[in-house]
Amino acid sequence: MKTSGIAMLSTLFLLIQLATSDPSKEAFVECLKNQASKSPKPISKAIFTAESPAFVPTLFAYFRNSRFNTTTKRNPTAIITAMDETHVQATVICTKNHSLLLRIRSGGHDSEGLSYVSNEPFIILDMFNLRSIDINIEAGTAWVQAGATLGELYYSISQKSKVHAFPGGVCTSVATGGHFIGAGYGNLLRKYGLSVDNIIDAKIVDVNGKILDRKSMGEDVFWAIRGGGASFCVILSWNLKLVLVPEVVTFFRVDKAHEEGAIDIAYKWQEVADELPEDIFVRLQFHHWGEPVNKFTVRFIA
Ligand SMILES: Cc1cc2nc3c(=O)[nH]c(=O)nc-3n(C[C@H](O)[C@H](O)[C@H](O)COP(=O)(O)OP(=O)(O)OC[C@H]3O[C@@H](n4cnc5c(N)ncnc54)[C@H](O)[C@@H]3O)c2cc1C
Repeated sequence: MKTSGIAMLSTLFLLIQLATSDPSKEAFVECLKNQASKSPKPISKAIFTAESPAFVPTLFAYFRNSRFNTTTKRNPTAIITAMDETHVQATVICTKNHSLLLRIRSGGHDSEGLSYVSNEPFIILDMFNLRSIDINIEAGTAWVQAGATLGELYYSISQKSKVHAFPGGVCTSVATGGHFIGAGYGNLLRKYGLSVDNIIDAKIVDVNGKILDRKSMGEDVFWAIRGGGASFCVILSWNLKLVLVPEVVTFFRVDKAHEEGAIDIAYKWQEVADELPEDIFVRLQFHHWGEPVNKFTVRFIA
């Protein structure tokens, strides 16, 4: 009796094991460990699967659009929070070897949730640990890793110089990884163009897991990653050309409702905004303040 009871328990245990273990996931994790075996930082600390207590907090840390937080949402098979460039290389090689879809996330601001949502099994490569910023004021350049936010970049520059800046977007929590691959525009647009007009080099991981820079990736790929979107490679870091700005700038904002002549201002703005000297940037924003939708803001930055 005793023996058959133990046998039944063992069978039950095995059935539970079979139900919960996923050989393809285990093989993928094993591949990561092999590929990154020589990494200075153990990749095991960067791997989060559904069994890890930190899986859900890690998934939601950069889940910026609650529109995609539905009960039918598919969770990633694993999240790799790369702590070293070798982890990025390993993730690219292993997702490719195991035919898994790779989603790359830097700041998580993608409007379509493309960095953390998928209908088929997928892996998230999370770049938030790779966020160092190295500024060389004498040369007027900076290297910034993909996980650094625009706010961190602007703040770091301001700590080194009051007359240097970088032309990028206005949302400080957007990350440089996703922002610059889409071009990047902001308050310095008129004077200095897009972010990508001021990028002079980049480090990427290609589809074979190789690290390339501008010279080794070639001018065509370098052109494509500056505005062409995310499908070419994983961006590790960008080399930026800083621009010169006055130490003091003037900023003011005017709020006008429809009955206060808002439409006339919007009309006039279209005629004059691009004719003004390039040192003046005038931004027009429509805002919804209660009902009816009739209020908007004009921002002048000179
Ligand atoms: C509130 C808000 C304000 C914004 N303001 C501006 C603005 O002022 N100016 C402007 O130009 N844009 C602005 N944007 C748009 C923003 O620049 C893009 O949504 C940008 O792609 C977000 O980058 P991310 O890294 O934060 O997002 P993520 O969701 O992490 O990434 C966006 C896309 O880039 C890919 N990607 C991310 N990291 C990498 C990487 N390291 N290598 C390769 N691919 C990668 C992702 O897979 C995804 O497809 C704004 C967006 C929001 C939500």
